[in-house]
Amino acid sequence: MGEHTTSIFAEMSTLAAEVGAINLGQGFPDTDGPQALKDVAIAAITDGRGNQYPPPNGLPLLRAAIAEHQRRFYGLDVDPDTEVVVGTGASEVIQSALMSLVDEDDEVVVFEPWFDIYAAGISLARGRRVGVPMNGPGLRPDLDALRAAITPRTRLILLNSPHNPTGIVFTPAELAEVARIAIDNDLLVLSDEAYEHLWFEGHQHTPIATLPGMWERTVTVGSGGKTFSFTGWKVGWATGPVELIAAVRVVRQHLSYVSSGPFQHAMAFGLSLPDEYFTDFRADLATKRDLLSAGLADLGFRIIPTEGTYFVSTDVSGFGYVDGLAFCRDLPRRTGVVAIPHQVFCDDPSIGAPFVRWAFCKRTTVLDEALDRLRAGLA
Ligand SMILES: *Cc1c(COP(=O)(O)O)cnc(C)c1O
Repeated sequence: MGEHTTSIFAEMSTLAAEVGAINLGQGFPDTDGPQALKDVAIAAITDGRGNQYPPPNGLPLLRAAIAEHQRRFYGLDVDPDTEVVVGTGASEVIQSALMSLVDEDDEVVVFEPWFDIYAAGISLARGRRVGVPMNGPGLRPDLDALRAAITPRTRLILLNSPHNPTGIVFTPAELAEVARIAIDNDLLVLSDEAYEHLWFEGHQHTPIATLPGMWERTVTVGSGGKTFSFTGWKVGWATGPVELIAAVRVVRQHLSYVSSGPFQHAMAFGLSLPDEYFTDFRADLATKRDLLSAGLADLGFRIIPTEGTYFVSTDVSGFGYVDGLAFCRDLPRRTGVVAIPHQVFCDDPSIGAPFVRWAFCKRTTVLDEALDRLRAGLA
C-alpha cells in the first residue's frame, strides 16, 4: 500500500548526504539533552539494573515518575499501576493504541497535514483515515469540517498539539470544541503530546484529558525523546483510564514486548527534574525559533508563527514553484539546505501545497550557516 512506502525523510536525507546539505528536514536536535540523564543510563547499565527484560508495561519507577509528572504539570490524578504504559517511543505507543482501539473499517479522524506515522499506523490497524484540514492563513484546525466529518463509523479523533508540522498549538477554545465533538459523538481521542513541553509564550499546552468529560475517553501520549532531547533513546508512554490503557498494554507487549531498560531509568530521572529544566529548554528553543523565523522572513517567506514544536512553517508560493514538494526537491542542489514540504503529510495535496517545514532545533551556528546558504542560493 502507498502508506507503507519509504518516507520523504529517506529521500531528503539521501539528497542531503549527496550534496552535503544542512538538514533542516528531520526534527531532531543536534545537541544532546542533560548529561545527568546520560549518567543515570550509564550507571543503570554498569550496575546491572535494566540490562535484562524490564516489566512489559514499564519500570514501576518510570510509571510512578510519569504519573507524578502528569500531576505536577496538569493536575491529573493518574494511577501508575493501571493507568500508564511505557513503550518504544511515542511511535510504538501510538501504533499500539490505534491497533487496540480501532477495529477494521472504523474511521479515524486526523487533522491534515498530519505527522507522517499516522497514515501507516491507521492503515496497519485496518482503520480508515478521514482527513480534516488545517487551513486559513494561520493553518488553524477547521472545526466545522471536523464536526461534518463525523459519521456513525467514526471511532477516534487523533489529535496532535503542539502540532507537527504546522507548529501551531490548539487554543483552549479549539480544544474545547474538539472535546465537545468527541463527547457529543461518544468518540475516543488519541492525543499525541510529544511536544508537550515545547510551547512558547502565550501558547501554553493543555492536555485535552484535563477537560471535563475527557479523561475517560482519552489516551494521552508523551515522548521522552522529544522532552529530553534524546530522540535516539526511544522511550514513550501513554496515560489514560484503566480500560483504555489495558487495551493498549495488550497490543504493545506483542510489538516490542519491553522497551530499553537503562533509558527508562534515565527518563524517570528526567521527569523528576525541577521546573527550570523545562523552562530553560523552551527558552533555548525560543531563541532558535526567532533566529530562523526572522531569517526566513527576511528572505521573503511568509511565516506561520511557531507556537510550539521545533518547526517553523512557511508559505513558499512567492518563490516561483508550483508547490512545496517541487521547492524542496530543488532546494538542496540550489542552496545546500534541506526542508520538508507539508504536502507529503496530506491526502489532499491542495491543503499542504504551498507550505514547507523547517526544523530549528539546531545549533545557532548551523542555523546561521543555513540562512547564509539560502540567501546566496535563492538570490
Ligand atoms: C517525534 C514525534 C513522535 C514520535 O516520538 P518518538 O518518541 O520518537 O517515537 C510522535 N508524534 C509526533 C508529533 C512527533 O513529532
